[in-house]
Amino acid sequence: MILKIVIVGAVIAAIYFLFFKTKPEIKVTKKESKKSDADEMVECTTCGVYAEVQESILSNGKYYCCRECLMKEK
Ligand SMILES: [Zn+2]
Repeated sequence: MILKIVIVGAVIAAIYFLFFKTKPEIKVTKKESKKSDADEMVECTTCGVYAEVQESILSNGKYYCCRECLMKEK
């Protein structure tokens, strides 16, 4: 009787372990895809240097690596 309870408990624990193991994996893949979007490289309209989207300046639908390039284009 006790052995049966232990086996059932082990099966439930195994199912829980599988669920907890798969959930973080999904989160990690989501984070990685988000990170790749943030690290997207765009070409500077003035000098042609590639810069990260977050670091570049967006003006009139064009990307610039720095303020100097933005001023030169205007
Ligand atoms: Zn530039």
